[in-house]
Amino acid sequence: MKPIYYPEPFRIKSVEPLKLLSRKEREERLAGAHYNMFALAARDVYIDLLTDSGTGAMSTEQWAGVMRGDESYAGAECYYRVQETAKKIFGLPYLQIVHQGRAAEKVLLPLLLEGKKYAIANMHFDTTRAHVELAGARAIDCVVPEALETTKPYDFKGNMDLARLESLLKELGAENVGVVIMTVTNNSAGGQPVSVANIRAAEKIAHKYGVPFMIDAARYAENSYFVKQREPEFKNSSIEEIVKATFEGADCFTMSAKKDAIVNMGGLIGCRDRALFEKIKQRTISYEGFVTYGGMSGRDIEALARGLEEGIDEHYLRYRIGQMEYLAARLDEAGIAYQTPVGGHAVFVDAKKLLPHIPYYEFPAQALAAELYLEAGIRACDIGSFMLGNDPDTGKQLKADFEFTRLAIPRRIYTQSHLDVIADALENIKERASGVRGYKIVEEPPILRHFTAKLAPISAK
Ligand SMILES: *Cc1c(COP(=O)(O)O)cnc(C)c1O
Repeated sequence: MKPIYYPEPFRIKSVEPLKLLSRKEREERLAGAHYNMFALAARDVYIDLLTDSGTGAMSTEQWAGVMRGDESYAGAECYYRVQETAKKIFGLPYLQIVHQGRAAEKVLLPLLLEGKKYAIANMHFDTTRAHVELAGARAIDCVVPEALETTKPYDFKGNMDLARLESLLKELGAENVGVVIMTVTNNSAGGQPVSVANIRAAEKIAHKYGVPFMIDAARYAENSYFVKQREPEFKNSSIEEIVKATFEGADCFTMSAKKDAIVNMGGLIGCRDRALFEKIKQRTISYEGFVTYGGMSGRDIEALARGLEEGIDEHYLRYRIGQMEYLAARLDEAGIAYQTPVGGHAVFVDAKKLLPHIPYYEFPAQALAAELYLEAGIRACDIGSFMLGNDPDTGKQLKADFEFTRLAIPRRIYTQSHLDVIADALENIKERASGVRGYKIVEEPPILRHFTAKLAPISAK
């Protein structure tokens, strides 16, 4: 029986033209960008899979909300609306809007990490890691070992390794650990889900040692959809109920609303402790803006309030995850390895397997991203050693557990035909894989280097 990949539960009302440059033009543009995908002009990209962050298409309801945005400096109508909606969905009493996920991290993490040495997470997203380091602490990843075997299916590859979490807390001294973070879905492991059972267990361990438990909630809705599919306890629960269960034991959360809340800009902090909330508000005023706008326009806040609800619609989520499953099935046919089973917001192609002749310090996932652009004007990015960067203590290139080329799928943007182009391009690259060469770094900043570093191809020996 042929699987049905639930088709788009919407029709198109407004379109944006796309253009595919010639091969020669693409070569020139890529060299001009010093082989860094972030330096390409969007106009030169045919299918943009750089990120699913802030790149989604808003609904007619959200656009209508844009018109109704209240731009008052203090106490705008949209502020009350987003507070009420977020309180209802996440169940935490204190909420602060900010302009994006890293702003939430900048406001909250220094409060949790003051005088501490470590943060432990199932996996830190790159900006989260950066903010842990900027707060003077070290970020330790503690994902289940199943996550590392990309071709082996496992329902919850995003999970925390619970035994290791407990031994880390003992070894490092719980008094030195400022926070235990659960990233849902686990972005860096391949958009892999975390089970509610694992969230509950990690929270118990953190609390047993007196360490606050935080959720990095960028993909709360996609994670909940996977939980419904895969965790028997929740098979008859609504997405709303699963989201509630996810946040039940969390002391606080940070959220980039640019993902599952389907807005182009926005973020959120939640917490349960009144004293912590007072500090959050003070830092928000210093860094973001007054508490009732938190660095956002009223129109964006209104779109966020609506997006929070649209993101947890089960029909939408079935189509959304269905897109990943469709693309993954095409890669299965072509024998191209990716993080299996496919994650929630992207297909993470295993570049180590596709380009085994390129070592980690020549960035195989970056090489594949460059190749995708040359092949079909597709922009993807490296989630591997190039992104991980250098050891902050020794300055030496770190070796990532994975070398993924991430094909992030923006929400409600591309159709199934675009997905076919992506699969066809990868098939073509696979055929000439042995001729693809690695890259070296010519110039790099000390932190979050993958955004601005300059690269050059390594010439044939
Ligand atoms: C995107 C993301 C962030 C950072 O959010 P921005 O809105 O890009 O600043 C943090 N954590 C995770 C898991 C993310 O995916």
